[in-house]
Amino acid sequence: MSNSLESLAIGLDVGGTAIKAGLVNRRGHVVSTQTIATEANGGVDHVIERMIRLIRALTNEAAAAGSRIEAVGVGMPGTLSRKKGMVIAPPNLPGWRNIPIVKWLSEGTGHRVVLDNDANNAALGEFICGAGRGVQNMIMLTLGTGVGGGMIFGGRLWRGAYENAGEIGHTIIVVGGRRCGCGQLGCLEAYASATATVTRAMERISNGEDTCLRAELNNGRLLTTEMIVSAARNGDALARDVWEETCRYLAVACLNLQHTASLERIVLAGGMSAAGEALRRPVLDAIDQIGSKMLGDPPDIRLAELGNDAGFIGSALSVFEPA
Ligand SMILES: [Zn+2]
Repeated sequence: MSNSLESLAIGLDVGGTAIKAGLVNRRGHVVSTQTIATEANGGVDHVIERMIRLIRALTNEAAAAGSRIEAVGVGMPGTLSRKKGMVIAPPNLPGWRNIPIVKWLSEGTGHRVVLDNDANNAALGEFICGAGRGVQNMIMLTLGTGVGGGMIFGGRLWRGAYENAGEIGHTIIVVGGRRCGCGQLGCLEAYASATATVTRAMERISNGEDTCLRAELNNGRLLTTEMIVSAARNGDALARDVWEETCRYLAVACLNLQHTASLERIVLAGGMSAAGEALRRPVLDAIDQIGSKMLGDPPDIRLAELGNDAGFIGSALSVFEPA
């Protein structure tokens, strides 16, 4: 039961295919959630209209429960300006260029609206009520199609001077290495994302190496990291090799972050973290092998706890953060 006159926030996590939203209190307790299709092909105005309707529905729900809305937090992918309230170039929303989303949504709903990067919001969500509880310094790596990052230093999100801190996926781990989608060579994302892991496996399969994964491909299925992890577990040499390699690249990234920022915790999130201990354990083992003893305490690596909800919970909680 929600307290009467409790102040709630509405959080939105806007992706290319779905918008997840929820009513959340300032401790991160989720009162209710809604998920709608983004319908990105309908264009910018169509999606904004859908967001406004969603915010209104959640506002009515809060009012019916005797609560009021503090503000609306929105998490979006890609380049954006939190200060200007503008979405600049989201990778999976065609036609979105320099959209003053904060202005449009606050005019459409009457609420204060706060915008931030989706990776930052997800990190904030895990920090306040997930795997980051109880620490002050943590970095979250979101492992999916790409590699996203969110950084909490001294108990606050660190966005940097130009608001684009935390692009850990584009830190270079192999000089002159594989080409990344961002144009650089050798980015972490080009080696340790789910996409990159599948690519490395496919290259070796195309080269004729023996693996049980070939049977899956012959059945017309698309290769996934879940299939690679499960094949590795069953002793498939190629799958084991590819997965250990991914974990080693992640270990290098974690070590670099630890040397840079002296963290209490590193949280592994995103679709690939569903592998659980099959991800965490080999990353820890590789850190143990590769890392310098000068590091002192190794980073405390944990798996994310909020799953796909971290984004909208963090978006909601971001409205309670000091500006
Ligand atoms: Zn890159």
